[in-house]
Amino acid sequence: MMVLVFAEATNGKFKKAAHEVVTYGAKTAAALGSDCVALTLGNVEDAGDLGRFGATKVYNVSAPELAGFDSGVFTAAIAGAAQQLGAKVIVLSHNSTGKNLTGRLAARLDAGSAPGVKAVPVVDGGKFTVRKAVFSGKAFADVEILTDTKVVSLVGNSIPVEESGSAVGVESLTVELPAPKVKVLSTKRAEGTTPLPEAELVVSGGRGLKGPENWGVINDLADALGATTACSRPVADSDWRPHHEHVGQTGVAIHPNLYIAAGISGAIQHLAGVNSSKTIVVINKDPEAPFFKAADYGVVGDLFEVLPRLTEAVKKFKS
Ligand code: FAD
Repeated sequence: MMVLVFAEATNGKFKKAAHEVVTYGAKTAAALGSDCVALTLGNVEDAGDLGRFGATKVYNVSAPELAGFDSGVFTAAIAGAAQQLGAKVIVLSHNSTGKNLTGRLAARLDAGSAPGVKAVPVVDGGKFTVRKAVFSGKAFADVEILTDTKVVSLVGNSIPVEESGSAVGVESLTVELPAPKVKVLSTKRAEGTTPLPEAELVVSGGRGLKGPENWGVINDLADALGATTACSRPVADSDWRPHHEHVGQTGVAIHPNLYIAAGISGAIQHLAGVNSSKTIVVINKDPEAPFFKAADYGVVGDLFEVLPRLTEAVKKFKS
């Protein structure tokens, strides 16, 4: 039961998410006693490098139709590759691309799908069971996928990236693709720091900041760390910060290595978008704030005292 991993590249380069899904695919293949191969689409640098994370081979589909993101074309490319190679388990990242494609792929391949898995599947006597997050990450569900072909998407930071091999060969694959239905005319990155979905370091502020005029303490720490700034929903709703900074169930879901939350209570809707962060640091003056339960490190104190001291400590450490 070959495992095919879609390793997404941004501007030709792989991010940590691609290494995570290949690690996951390799572990899944080991549990199934099969091989894990990776699929890349378009021009990608050092595609064979995915072998370091356990892919035994890398396939690449390049065609003018793949120049911009069109979900129909990407679905056809991944489904076509899976059919040609006889892959029965297809793995994607649970990022915006993966969320867009998982259901489409499952429909195209007549497969059972489990979006948002958090752990390597348990393979037992022909049963294939995955653990996925439900109720905004408050609970897990173990789901057996009953169909021959299975499509899963992996939540970021759910498993550590592991190196288990060395670079492998890359083979071109030709897949019949439909004409794109949309055309990306241009893309423009927001200036400054890394966009939230890709950020490794995030400093976030909530209503405890009291008003937009106080955001200097958040920006100063973010600048010192080289981090991206974020906020809770009421902060964006009150126009203290732009809406693209709002994280949570109805905002951006993030998976940074470090999430520092100041003056945020930790409501379930906020946690839903940030609880896949590797390390969570909470600064809140209320020792009963629910966010402390989800924190790896907590500081009970006034953020207007704690944040400047933290910023100074970071600057000192870096100098
Ligand atoms: P508050 O709950 O007011 O908390 C402020 C915190 O700051 C308190 O814990 C307080 O102790 C602390 N504080 C105050 N002063 C200081 C100080 N000087 N120093 C240190 N700490 C201080 N919210 C989101 O964030 N994202 C979402 O995507 C989202 N989606 C939602 C969807 C739905 C359908 C609903 C109903 C709600 C949603 N919410 C979302 C809102 C959510 O329920 C909370 O109301 C919101 O997260 C609270 O924001 P907050 O923590 O900034 O503010």
